[in-house]
Amino acid sequence: MNRFDVDLHPATSGFTAQEDAADQDTAPYIPDARECMTCGACVSGCPTYKVRQHENFGPRGRVRLFERVLRRQEGLSDGEWQALDACTLCRACETICPSKMPYATLYRQTLEARESRAREPLVIRLLLGTLAQSGARQRALGGLVTVIQASGLQGLLNRLPVSTTRNGLGRMAKLLPATRLRRPAPRFSITSAPTRRGRIDLFTGCIASALDTATHHAAVKLLTRLGYDVGLLADQACCGAIHAHHGQADEARASARRNIEAIAASRADRVLHSASGCGAFFSEYPSLLKGDATAAPSDMASRVADIIDFLADNDALDTLRFRPLTARVVVHEPCSQRNVLRNQAAVYRLLDRIPGLDVTPLPGTNLCCGAGGTRMLTEPEIARPLRDDKVDAAEASEADLVLSANLTCALHLSSGLRERGLTTEVMHPVQLLANQLA
Ligand code: SF4
Ligand code: SF4
Repeated sequence: MNRFDVDLHPATSGFTAQEDAADQDTAPYIPDARECMTCGACVSGCPTYKVRQHENFGPRGRVRLFERVLRRQEGLSDGEWQALDACTLCRACETICPSKMPYATLYRQTLEARESRAREPLVIRLLLGTLAQSGARQRALGGLVTVIQASGLQGLLNRLPVSTTRNGLGRMAKLLPATRLRRPAPRFSITSAPTRRGRIDLFTGCIASALDTATHHAAVKLLTRLGYDVGLLADQACCGAIHAHHGQADEARASARRNIEAIAASRADRVLHSASGCGAFFSEYPSLLKGDATAAPSDMASRVADIIDFLADNDALDTLRFRPLTARVVVHEPCSQRNVLRNQAAVYRLLDRIPGLDVTPLPGTNLCCGAGGTRMLTEPEIARPLRDDKVDAAEASEADLVLSANLTCALHLSSGLRERGLTTEVMHPVQLLANQLA
């Protein structure tokens, strides 16, 4: 059973009885605060509550704000909207709530219902606009980063003050990878193995298409050695998560429709994604597109998988040999992996393939690192202390490497390690596996 069988069927997904009922028609499920028992079980695991220690910065308080907006059609104060904006959407609250509040769905509906909002900082508007486009503009983003790196401009940008205002330019500059970007992976690669096992298309995403090319090259290397021809999924769009997280549900729906069509048109046996954040948002497509007559029927459940699951469960991996590596690595388990895909165990199974590797979870990995899509740019007062806790843990572990399967978490952690003067590299687990291929 792949993880879409888990995530797309509410009875086994952590999605809820309430949402089951809502699935009967096309109306969105609207919460009733009485369904929240106010037990507070969700509060202690909430990263934003940990930092702000205020009821509205935790899930219990936010559920009440959802109810006021969605059911009672009340307006919220600026402070209440700020409390909602600060949510990193880590979804730890969903995993623990005995009433099974469909927190992420309610959050998205509430942001969508917001009548007006302060204009986002220019940097964020530009980023969202770029990522809503596919192909050329995303590749241009990668080209721009390459030019910044090659020209030495990155050093200059890094000296911009990291202001705690919502202007994100200084913070965005500090997130750029310190190592030179690789060119995008080839559009199509033919297997080098004696036995051909099929064809895979890679969903490379938006920011990752520009900034995580090393992981895509690693995926191509592993998969072609295993016996698969590998293509880049044609006509793909951003998964849509970043827009939904900013209340731009129409843009998110447009991306979802386009990805569903791209996957339906693909001739590959499977479509694999490598960023856990994208995979987690794919599982929201049914709820996002509920009642949308223009959405094509989706065969995503049977065709899409996380590359980590695909590799860990693939018997053909026994045909590959991996060079030993005497190193200590700590694994940061992104919230999208822990709380939505719930496949973090597969990472450790994969890493077991590398002889000599000392692998442990990053201490405190059950709490969000604060990246939260773009929250690391827009909510620095919350994102930085959460990130610094992770940097403390990585430093204390004396790890040689930090692994993370979600690009935004990796960028956020990398910038924290660099600011601390540490040279510890952060990479995707698949990259480490490909590096050690014999
Ligand atoms: S999604 Fe995460 S940050 Fe948001 S309320 Fe739930 S636990 Fe808190
Ligand atoms: S865990 Fe669920 S029921 Fe308990 S306070 Fe949080 S939202 Fe309400």
